[in-house]
Amino acid sequence: MPNNQLTAQVQELLEQAQNAAKRAYAPYSHFQVGAALLLADGSVSLGCNVENASYGATMCAERVALFAACAAGKLSPQQPPQILAVTALPCALCLQVLAEFAGPDLSIWVAGAEGEQPQHFCLKDLLPHTFKL
Ligand SMILES: [Zn+2]
Repeated sequence: MPNNQLTAQVQELLEQAQNAAKRAYAPYSHFQVGAALLLADGSVSLGCNVENASYGATMCAERVALFAACAAGKLSPQQPPQILAVTALPCALCLQVLAEFAGPDLSIWVAGAEGEQPQHFCLKDLLPHTFKL
């Protein structure tokens, strides 16, 4: 099945991302973001943005999900993520971190606004040129 199909699994991930967004700590921007990352073992790592009075200390939802998965021993280049579902388009920093672990064809689903269809991208669409050492 092509990976751009809005399957029941993708819809479930998008719901999980939307629920995670409700737990965001965003008292400064009031922009709540959630992420649900399907991992190689079939489990899901969730993230929400966590802001700080020192703005630079803020962490995006996507990287919260990625780093939690890494800390759980479930994410590495040998255990790449399978699908990322998010409630907003990822920033370039998060895309670069994704590229550390995932191939260019990783599916990224972005939940639509109320009544809109989710959008599908591949990692390479959003970050065609990655930084590599
Ligand atoms: Zn980000």
